Amino acid sequence: GDTIGRNLDRAVAAHPGRDALVVAGGPRWTYAEFGAAVDELARAFLGIGVARGDRVGIWAVNCPEWVLVQYATARIGAVLVNINPAYRAHELAYVLRQAGVSVLCASLSHRTSDYRALVDSVRADCPELRAVHYIQDTSWDTLLAAAAPVTGAELAAREATLSCDDPVNIQYTSGTTGFPKGATLTHHNILNNGYFVGETLGYTERDRICIPVPFYHCFGMVMGNLAATSHGACVVIPAPAFDPAATLRAVADERCTSLYGVPTMFIAELNLPDFAAYDLTSLRTGIMAGSPCPEEVMKRVVTEMHMAEVSICYGMTETSPVSTQTRRDDDLERRTATVGRVLPHVEIKVIDPDSGVTLPRGRAGELCTRGYGVMAGYWGEPELTAEAVDPGRWMHTGDLAVMREDGCVRIVGRIKDMIIRGGENVYPREIEEFLYAHPKVSDVQVVGVPDERYGEEILACVIPRDPADPPGLDEIAAFCRDRLAHYKIPRRLAVLDAFPMTVSGKVRKVELRERYAGEGN
Ligand code: ATP
Ligand code: MG
Repeated sequence: GDTIGRNLDRAVAAHPGRDALVVAGGPRWTYAEFGAAVDELARAFLGIGVARGDRVGIWAVNCPEWVLVQYATARIGAVLVNINPAYRAHELAYVLRQAGVSVLCASLSHRTSDYRALVDSVRADCPELRAVHYIQDTSWDTLLAAAAPVTGAELAAREATLSCDDPVNIQYTSGTTGFPKGATLTHHNILNNGYFVGETLGYTERDRICIPVPFYHCFGMVMGNLAATSHGACVVIPAPAFDPAATLRAVADERCTSLYGVPTMFIAELNLPDFAAYDLTSLRTGIMAGSPCPEEVMKRVVTEMHMAEVSICYGMTETSPVSTQTRRDDDLERRTATVGRVLPHVEIKVIDPDSGVTLPRGRAGELCTRGYGVMAGYWGEPELTAEAVDPGRWMHTGDLAVMREDGCVRIVGRIKDMIIRGGENVYPREIEEFLYAHPKVSDVQVVGVPDERYGEEILACVIPRDPADPPGLDEIAAFCRDRLAHYKIPRRLAVLDAFPMTVSGKVRKVELRERYAGEGN
């Protein structure tokens, strides 16, 4: 029943002297200092006339101001709009208009130095955008100068009007399967999700969480920031954007107990040539999420990175995000083959996507979830919302899953990624996991491409271990023969040096499909 602001007050009162936010090698805030900085910024937003429900955009790579803006906007009942730091002009204009952003906070750090020119180029197309304030080196000069003085009593009066069911955030989906959709999320949605994710990890005020994943995405801002502050723990920012060496250095220097990442980030950290030089013994836990984790990687994270309690989370932006999570005492098998069990106060079911009938345990179908986390809706898109959330408030995830006898959920793939070849359903993940074991394959994605004869044909997109010696299609096919059913054997091959990725670290299969759609080989 708390708002995010009131929940932060509780942490400030309980742990005023403990670290709340630390930039590795940079500034740091105790909870008392963090609370005061949030209040100062919240008063400045009130002082420039931000009303309850107004949309305030944040366009920045990871920096402490991102976190301050997150809490300051929540404190005054504004709706934070997360803007992808990779966006260029036309995408920026789209989000600003779609969400009706009236105040934009943009960063001018070294990685985003052209933001001012990009904002200038779209301003004329965004009539609702009335103020832009730039953040540079933890300074808010233009915002503080523009703001009329606001007292603590005025801030408290605004807070008293807020409800936990107010929208607090518009968060765009990753855009893995198409154009990103803006999920409208309330205090109740995301504060509870952060709290329960932290609870499952056993967070206390002694935890220090290293967050190299973007704040712009729910992984950073909810599973990171809100999980931390709702348990009095500390957020450690290793670098503005993912950098494997900076991440491990931050863990070592700040004695972090928890580390987050998508599987590819952990792979990059484990593969650092000087990996052994970092002291990671302070780590106990962390989260791996977003996409499936290969078993080898999980084993190394547990043993070589000391993350014995590392947790796998499954979720989506639209459900605030986490629905299932592995527990501290789950064994390695559960943490590699499954995404754990349902979180408290969340319901899940697996249905036949065509008939809507609930399937028994053990059968693959579409995963649906229901509970406090389900979004208020896609911002300004009632029809899209009605397609995703049914009248019974079940969110249809678009993911194929199996619920096992032990209650753990196995994600089989996305409905949109399923390949139908000559009438047979083929799940790319099964073939990918198999091909990972090929000695010449470093990474692999499997997609369906149009085919006159079979409707769809199976294409393996391979990043070779040695670019000078990539595997041939004949080698791939020979490797699969007698070990995979004949209709699952890739008939086409593309060799790449990198996959097209989203900012949240996922492979955009849709782009691979489009790229190779016209090429038979
Ligand atoms: P879009 O909806 O725009 O296509 P997206 O679905 O990737 O993008 P997110 O909300 O960031 O956007 O991601 C949610 C999806 O990520 C889930 O629906 C699921 O397909 C995938 N996912 C999340 N966690 C896991 C996990 N632990 N294992 C496998 N897949 C996962
Ligand atoms: Mg999605």
